[in-house]
Amino acid sequence: MVVTRFAPSPTGYLHIGGLRTALFSYLWAKKNGGEFVLRIEDTDKARNSQEATDAILKAFEWLGLKHDGEITYQSQRDEIYTKYIKQLLDEGKAYKCYMSKEELTELRETQMAAKERTKYNGKYRDFDGTPPEGVEPVIRIKAPLTGEILVKDGVKGNVSFQAEDILDDFVIARSDGAPTYNFVVAIDDYLMGINEVIRGDDHLSNTPKQIVVYEALGFPLPKFYHVPMIHNSKGKKLSKRDGATDVMAYKEMGYTPEALLNFLVRLGWSHGDQEIFSMEEMQDLFNPKDINKSASIYNTEKLDWLNSHYIKNTPNTQLAELLLNYDLVLTSHDKKEILLDALKERAKTLKELAILTNEILITPTSYDEKAIKKAFKGEATSILNAFGTKLTTCENCHLPSDYHHIMESVVSELEIGFGKIGQPLRVALLGKMGGPGLDDVMAILGKDETMLRIANIITKLN
Ligand code: GLU
Repeated sequence: MVVTRFAPSPTGYLHIGGLRTALFSYLWAKKNGGEFVLRIEDTDKARNSQEATDAILKAFEWLGLKHDGEITYQSQRDEIYTKYIKQLLDEGKAYKCYMSKEELTELRETQMAAKERTKYNGKYRDFDGTPPEGVEPVIRIKAPLTGEILVKDGVKGNVSFQAEDILDDFVIARSDGAPTYNFVVAIDDYLMGINEVIRGDDHLSNTPKQIVVYEALGFPLPKFYHVPMIHNSKGKKLSKRDGATDVMAYKEMGYTPEALLNFLVRLGWSHGDQEIFSMEEMQDLFNPKDINKSASIYNTEKLDWLNSHYIKNTPNTQLAELLLNYDLVLTSHDKKEILLDALKERAKTLKELAILTNEILITPTSYDEKAIKKAFKGEATSILNAFGTKLTTCENCHLPSDYHHIMESVVSELEIGFGKIGQPLRVALLGKMGGPGLDDVMAILGKDETMLRIANIITKLN
């Protein structure tokens, strides 16, 4: 069974890059009928917070990405880590190192002065003397100091590291007993049954160290996939400055989960030239072996395009539910079908859809000056009056076509073009030029509100 995981450190919100690797891991597990588990890497007490964990879980909930089983919290697993530290010490695969801070700093400075890589010099590797007093030891693992460490990566192919270049006997437990990052990641991945690790390639340099831990403990290696970063349009690593990177900010901006996930799956992965993927299709088609070897480029227009696609294709009842998040209550509005049909093609985001809707539903209190100048030339007021009078006689005005007929009869009786009535009517109803068809607008507003808005502008202009 394929078991994948997402292992965020709760130091802040869930960002778009993290979400993409989570999505890849989720899809791959689901495609294989496997499990996608969640591990919160909360060992850094100074930088981790419960709020950050909650924010990450909230984002997952919004996106509908469900993890399997219980969440694992590293902060609750000290006993497990301590057990493995003891095991490695007993087996002679790890040792206590009594080098003082001062000595370590001195070593580092000497190495730097000699332009060498800074690394531990193995002083206590085979030490069997009397430990110096007053130094709480750290625990170091005996790492291979020569030879090749091969990361067989599902995205990048075989990546070879030379032990001399990257390894030393690294610390697996600090002097206060706290285990270190690469040590616990390897243990947890093994104990949690994770056999396919999909993560950002910013972690590739950690992998040799984790392999050392796996090997020292006799654990089988998982399959690794290191996913290239997401870049901005300038080819730099995506940063906060490139827009909101907090996943929940995308909700606030009015993106749908479907669009965001579809957008992310295409960042670094493709299936022919297909752009639109439903969740089912993603699960069906995703394979990490098709992840691109180079970085992907974040493109807001693409996200907007996908979002408008999903908005257009969302049933109106569901759209009305979604719009509740943007302070717009349409759920029991009797004209919501006409309203949303008229607007959903025009909105790139749900927030924009809420704004466009309010532009219709809220009675204008001011009018665009230029629009007034353009629309209220000549007979405009009397044409509007004629329209208003006709409208009062309409017993059963409900549908856009009912309003259209009234406009038509005014136009033919007065022998004028449609623009002559359309423009002033539009300004009266919406306060400005632009917007959806007037027939729809009037049907949405209903007869009374339409009359009121016509009366308002006539009073204002008199
Ligand atoms: N906790 C790490 C992070 O948030 C991820 C570790 C991993 O995926 O191995 O970047």
